[in-house]
Amino acid sequence: MAKRAILAVYCAVMILLPACTLPLVYADMPAPSPSPRSIPLRAVYSPPPPPEPSSIPSPASVSPAPVSSSYSDDSELASEAVYDEDVVIEDFSVSPGGELAAPPALGLNEYPHYIGRNHKRYQAFIAAFPHLPVTMALALVNVSADFGHYEGITQIANPHCFLVLSNKNFRLPVDYVPQNLRFVGGTERQMVCEAATAFELMHQALQDELGLQLVVVSAYRSYNRQNELYTAYAARDPRGVDTYSARPGHSEHQTGLAIDFLHRRPSGSLRRSGFQNTAQFAWLQVHAHKFGFILRYPSGYEPITGYIFESWHWRYIGTEDATRMFEAGMATFEEYTGTFLVNAPRPLYNTTLVFVQR
Ligand SMILES: [Zn+2]
Repeated sequence: MAKRAILAVYCAVMILLPACTLPLVYADMPAPSPSPRSIPLRAVYSPPPPPEPSSIPSPASVSPAPVSSSYSDDSELASEAVYDEDVVIEDFSVSPGGELAAPPALGLNEYPHYIGRNHKRYQAFIAAFPHLPVTMALALVNVSADFGHYEGITQIANPHCFLVLSNKNFRLPVDYVPQNLRFVGGTERQMVCEAATAFELMHQALQDELGLQLVVVSAYRSYNRQNELYTAYAARDPRGVDTYSARPGHSEHQTGLAIDFLHRRPSGSLRRSGFQNTAQFAWLQVHAHKFGFILRYPSGYEPITGYIFESWHWRYIGTEDATRMFEAGMATFEEYTGTFLVNAPRPLYNTTLVFVQR
């Protein structure tokens, strides 16, 4: 039942997303058919997210905030109080339907990211969701998205890889701790060394250009710490918890490659929510890829990522791939991984996806 709900969500997303927001496809592939409707995805959520200050403040209007953070893990939990709203991703009120997309001009096996053993799953997924661009359908099947969230879970074999896909279908080993964690300069939070260095360079560039800083609230979290957080959220909000908190073993924070920022509200309080209205966020959207970071849970792609829009959560994947993803116009790391990494010639890439076993 949950699987069907998730699949329905995928279809609803592709129906509802305006065509202009669809990720780009290969230049030699057929363009996706225009969406028959253009209802903003956000409009089908119930209830809508709480209103936030909408204007992006000018640098002069924002007090520089220190990069360092004295927040304890307990206050990290407290800062999530914004999620009390009952937002459940599966609660779509729109059913799949409408016009059929044109049949693909290419045979499935002509797509660069075609994997032979997935052929029947491609066919089933495309048949169920004909509005999906075929290239995206293949990509999503390649990363097990057709199984639904927390179904068909694959154990990640190479969690140390910068390109590791850690999500609701790919689980990190319980005992995985990155080998080269270090404190991010000026903070009490840790990241993998390369990611920490990339963040520090990015933060310096942001300071140089805007005179602003970032407040770091979270980076590496252990499996046990994630278990504590998820358990606390689930006790308080069992219906909505999976839309904003990862189950232990499924959090990007366990990889040491993710970092969260806070937003200082006019009242002086610090929250994750509202970060999308800051000049820092606007700058990151344009420049973060140059330092190897991507916005991991973008607005409008909640059914694919499995999480509500998290403007504060950024993930290090390396400059080469972050730039490639940025230039391809791809919004989710799921699609990027399923498109470019599954059959990549470079052995560095996520071998768990090349040799998926259940
Ligand atoms: Zn995060």
